[in-house]
Amino acid sequence: MSKRSCAGPSRVSRPANKGSNMRGSSAFLVLLLLAACGGSTEPEPVVPLERQSEHFVFESTSAEATAAEMDAGIQLAEQHYAAILALVGANRIPAGKVTVILEGDFRPDRSGGYIDAEGAAHLSRYRADLGGYFGSLAHEIAHALRYTYWHRFNVGPWENFGYLEEGFAEFVAIAVHPEKAGFPFYGYPPDVITAERLIRGEGIPQQVMRDRHDLNTPCEWQTYPLRASWFRYIEEEYGREAVLSIAYSEVQTTDERIEAVLGATLEQADAAWEQWLSARYAATPGAAEIAQPYFEKFANEPICVEGEDW
Ligand SMILES: [Zn+2]
Repeated sequence: MSKRSCAGPSRVSRPANKGSNMRGSSAFLVLLLLAACGGSTEPEPVVPLERQSEHFVFESTSAEATAAEMDAGIQLAEQHYAAILALVGANRIPAGKVTVILEGDFRPDRSGGYIDAEGAAHLSRYRADLGGYFGSLAHEIAHALRYTYWHRFNVGPWENFGYLEEGFAEFVAIAVHPEKAGFPFYGYPPDVITAERLIRGEGIPQQVMRDRHDLNTPCEWQTYPLRASWFRYIEEEYGREAVLSIAYSEVQTTDERIEAVLGATLEQADAAWEQWLSARYAATPGAAEIAQPYFEKFANEPICVEGEDW
């Protein structure tokens, strides 16, 4: 809808000095012009928006997304799809389209990104410097493409399910959209930010996160980077097939099952991950300076503490 140019009511509400009849029609004219000028008096009607591509359906309304956002979102989603397909293999990608629903500006009373009971991904729009609408698109698509796997094997109640699900989704997001400007790295290098978190004494042991998935959201500034980093280490040290056979396990993902895949105890793997991460930090010139603005920008976010939160 194009906005009409508007002269403003003051230009047309001339003094009505030619009798009551004229005053009446002049007032009517002012009302008509106010209506035509739209804006505060009569908002444009909200209409549904939909886009379809080979693997996605994007749904929203004109109140919650622009046509340009719908186009950009579905285009980016197809790019992520192709990259995820290459990462996990076609046999792990379900048939059928993923629905993505754009919900408008982020509100603190609801989750900024989530998968609903039917498997549709919901996204909120953040400020541009916090990732905009699509900072978490790759992460949510990674979840959505696992929806049939979840149900086929009823993985929800499995030991370590929450840890593995969130860790793997963020691992995928870093791999397919490394420049993403959204949570939890906001465009900063994941290894540097995660290592710096440990250096600041704000790490949560991997085993604690496996055992206490209830820490996921309250400690999200720690849990999301730390778990994804663990998967990055597993891929590098044990190979992608090890990552995939853990993430797409067809038997319960107990600690023992993960250890069987790795051929190492989790205690060993966790300790080796920490060494790997600190070596990467040490190998990055100016790592502390790179991390500094991130930790300044998000200095007021809640951080969980050993002895209080676990
Ligand atoms: Zn997630």
